Amino acid sequence: MPNHQLICVDCSSKQDPSVADLYCSECGGLFAVEYLAAPDGTMPRLPMDEPLNSNSLGEGDTPLVFLDKTCEHLGLGSLWAKLEFMSPTGSFKDRGSAVLTTMGRDFGVTEFIEDSSGNAGASLSAYAAATGLKAHVFAPASAASGKLDQIQIFGASLHKIEGHRQAATEAAEEFVKDRGLVYMSHNLSPYFSEGMKAVSYEIVEVLDDGIDHVVLPVGNGSLLIGMVRGYQELLEAGIIRRIPKFHGVQAHAVRPVVAALNGEEWSHEDVQPTNASGIAVSKPPRLKDMVEAIRATGGSGITVSEESLIDWQARLASSEGVFAEMTSAGAFAGLAQLIESGVIERDSNVCVPITGSGLKEPLKK
Ligand SMILES: [Zn+2]
Repeated sequence: MPNHQLICVDCSSKQDPSVADLYCSECGGLFAVEYLAAPDGTMPRLPMDEPLNSNSLGEGDTPLVFLDKTCEHLGLGSLWAKLEFMSPTGSFKDRGSAVLTTMGRDFGVTEFIEDSSGNAGASLSAYAAATGLKAHVFAPASAASGKLDQIQIFGASLHKIEGHRQAATEAAEEFVKDRGLVYMSHNLSPYFSEGMKAVSYEIVEVLDDGIDHVVLPVGNGSLLIGMVRGYQELLEAGIIRRIPKFHGVQAHAVRPVVAALNGEEWSHEDVQPTNASGIAVSKPPRLKDMVEAIRATGGSGITVSEESLIDWQARLASSEGVFAEMTSAGAFAGLAQLIESGVIERDSNVCVPITGSGLKEPLKK
């Protein structure tokens, strides 16, 4: 018996586990994972039958460090950074890739298609190599060369697509139709974000429920959705008494989530160029889930300018010795604004996941 089923996030229809079925047959909605209690009453936390037999490259257990200079500068009680860029391929995506490729392997997949702004494609390519799967990765031709190089060195077929991020998704969808291969989209599959729950478990292991606010960049939302679910599980299990408020940060240039949170009219047609390539997602398929996840915690959404990404990348590197990618630096720009506007009170205890490495992308000056 599988330890879970898939539940449609729109109509709550249920179906058997699958890596190939991404949409509800009743209404076309996306799925979440719903766990089934084991005979002894315990609830599983991961979808694979044998978590110890996962396709792992040593992801997870990333460092949690105190950023004392930035904490003092912002007037916070404490400021912790979860160094997710210290993952095997340099981004938090490795947690999701471990789960998704394990499920693919166990379902007998040998070849699959994925689309990505870069980090997820690089990550899935590495995990595909490790478990012997053939990956086709569709990425914007404009993606950082370090990310595109990673995809290729891991042996995936790289399909570089001109245009913005959404064009890569559309090209991947066409290829899926033409080739009849499994589309293991990290954005559509419910398995990817299951890997992100452990970020919350690891924070709680060190700090219990002492964090008041989590501030993070949001694009397709796997980290947000997974982290909130991880905290909710710990709350339901009685391990913690409260959940931090989650605040999603987007570049002003591409802001569907923040616009939805704030009731602002915004569409794919309004996209502007941005250096926050990791979150340049104009039509996130899980937009509704993301808005619900943030609202469930009492959090908020905020946009940041292009200059502030570059400023905060330089500030983190020169004052803390932390080299974040611009997307990740944006979370700190958002944090500073949230403090300025009083949404986050001074003296609060804050955690920021630093999602990707600055080493992959060329510097902007
Ligand atoms: Zn449905």
